[in-house]
Amino acid sequence: MHEFSIAVNIVEIAEETAKLHHAEKISGIVLEIGEASGIVPEALEMAMQSAVKNTMLENAKITFIYIPAKAICNDCNKEFNPDNLIAVCPHCSSFNVTITSGKEMRVKSIEID
Ligand SMILES: [Zn+2]
Repeated sequence: MHEFSIAVNIVEIAEETAKLHHAEKISGIVLEIGEASGIVPEALEMAMQSAVKNTMLENAKITFIYIPAKAICNDCNKEFNPDNLIAVCPHCSSFNVTITSGKEMRVKSIEID
């Protein structure tokens, strides 16, 4: 499962950061997930619940922030919000579009004790 390996990766990043600060546990983590990142929110939320078991994040409060996808059309230069990964310009029906935001997947912040 794609989301599970992402979740394990998030846990690793958070634990490394906590260790750098000599923390023993992590009380909270904030994740930013772009709507165009290809990540299924429900799947990631479920994967996080199992990935945190027996880690420093076991009792951490996990907050998910979803970033709306944005795209720009290279033909008519209009910006729009694509509703899926294969973006089509709603103004001129062009497929020549560039996703400008919403592809990110990152750990925004962690709270340590
Ligand atoms: Zn267009």
